[in-house]
Amino acid sequence: MKLLVTGGAGYVGSVCAATLVEAGHEVTIIDNFSTGNREAVPAQATLVEGDVANVVGDVLGQGGFDGVVHFAARSLVGESVAMPAEYWQHNVVTTLTLLEAMRANDVSNLVFSSTAATYGEPEEVPITESMPTQPTNPYGASKLAIDYMITSYAKAYGFGATSLRYFNVAGAYGEIGENREVETHLIPIILQVALGHRDKIFIFGDDWDTVDGTAVRDYIHVRDLADAHLLALEANVSGEHRIFNLGSGDGYSVKQVIETCREVTGHPIPAEVAPRRAGDPATLIASSAKIKSQLGWNPTRTDLHTIVSDAWAFTSQLGDRAHSAQRIK
Ligand code: UDP
Repeated sequence: MKLLVTGGAGYVGSVCAATLVEAGHEVTIIDNFSTGNREAVPAQATLVEGDVANVVGDVLGQGGFDGVVHFAARSLVGESVAMPAEYWQHNVVTTLTLLEAMRANDVSNLVFSSTAATYGEPEEVPITESMPTQPTNPYGASKLAIDYMITSYAKAYGFGATSLRYFNVAGAYGEIGENREVETHLIPIILQVALGHRDKIFIFGDDWDTVDGTAVRDYIHVRDLADAHLLALEANVSGEHRIFNLGSGDGYSVKQVIETCREVTGHPIPAEVAPRRAGDPATLIASSAKIKSQLGWNPTRTDLHTIVSDAWAFTSQLGDRAHSAQRIK
């Protein structure tokens, strides 16, 4: 297939673009490098540098595209609370521009990168797709609004679409991993401690109602996640918008993740308990039963040790290059 990947220089987008290239697809990437990395763009992909909203009409107007995988978005919960306008503009409005460009150019096969944040604070876990969607921040709300748009485009205009709601994506694929200028995610931050770029990891709350008092999350390997996009592209049916959760189905507490990182890195990784982070739920665990049964998704890297080992192989080879511009406090 000839495919457009928006945000294909970002963490998940670039692993997915590499996976699509390996599967023999012809990939064009649009990225403005606001958060992505140039070195993460697969050499075999065609790169169009720019904002999706500005360039997508011209790119799809070249003709011949069979589908779109849409990653380009703002994706930080805290930032979305402070700057919601950015999230409505860059997530919702830009996606509307993308959908219109697809419609104008007869491209109707879409896979959309969505999030567990669409559910908000769950009433029970594991979370299935039929549970209520009550996002607790503008980021989750913007992704949910896009789902409503896509559903209507499937019904009215015959789009065949899939939204994939990711839980906690982690790990690395070869030379592609988490390498952000501003890092907020647990595993890369812990690994920065192991590298000596931070003094310690702060545990955001140890008084949650969980196994050891620290928050529990479902970590999914980025390469398993990429496989799901490929399956979705191949399975999309005109007129249908399907929504799937993607996780490994196991929950690990923050303390368990730190302990696994200690085992993998051999570093003591000092930790200190800090106040809870605003907006964090106690436990998020996915049920991925639906995508397994409907698309035959079969994750093979679900073990946390494997996920952390792959992340560590990537982070440690980054060495001084990425993080040593200044020590992070
Ligand atoms: N967390 C933490 N210390 C950190 C970063 C994260 O204790 O420095 C916790 C966070 O409160 C959450 C879990 O680790 O319970 C996963 O956070 P992350 O930001 O990786 O993903 P999220 O679940 O927020 O999408």
